[in-house]
Amino acid sequence: MTDQREVLDCLTVVRGLWDYLDGEMSEQRLADVRAHLATCTGCREHVEFARGFVSLLGRAPLDEARVTALRLSVQRALRVERSAARD
Ligand SMILES: [Zn+2]
Repeated sequence: MTDQREVLDCLTVVRGLWDYLDGEMSEQRLADVRAHLATCTGCREHVEFARGFVSLLGRAPLDEARVTALRLSVQRALRVERSAARD
């Protein structure tokens, strides 16, 4: 059987992170993202952080530490994006 799944790179996964968390993604793409996350620690950290952040939003007001952590995560994501764009 041929594996039709698209192999995603980190840039694509990070860009689609919020869609992934919102479930606004086709089943096929969801499976592709999950497959990538299964093998990529860096992207998994992004997802876990973002997921934690989303659940915090529903619960508690943001304190400074959380805002700082979010900013660092975003900066890291942007760095991934920029270095990928340079290739
Ligand atoms: Zn990755």
